[in-house]
Amino acid sequence: MAETKKNNRISYVDQNECTGCEACVVETPKVFRMTSDGLSEVYNPQGDTEQKILDAMQCCPVSCIHWQDERK
Ligand code: SF4
Repeated sequence: MAETKKNNRISYVDQNECTGCEACVVETPKVFRMTSDGLSEVYNPQGDTEQKILDAMQCCPVSCIHWQDERK
């Protein structure tokens, strides 16, 4: 069903835009956490389903969570 985790992309937080509201950490704590600077970071890109990551993206008030290609 919603288990649509795709391993070819991972999420990241644009910390220049992050306001530190913690909404993504509350929504998807297995992927996002707060740093000592009071900003969010992705600490475990594969920590939850793609749907849960999308949920975090959608709850971000400044839309600063993005996908990047895992292959550099
Ligand atoms: S929801 Fe967006 S603005 Fe809020 S802490 Fe997470 S990344 Fe930062």
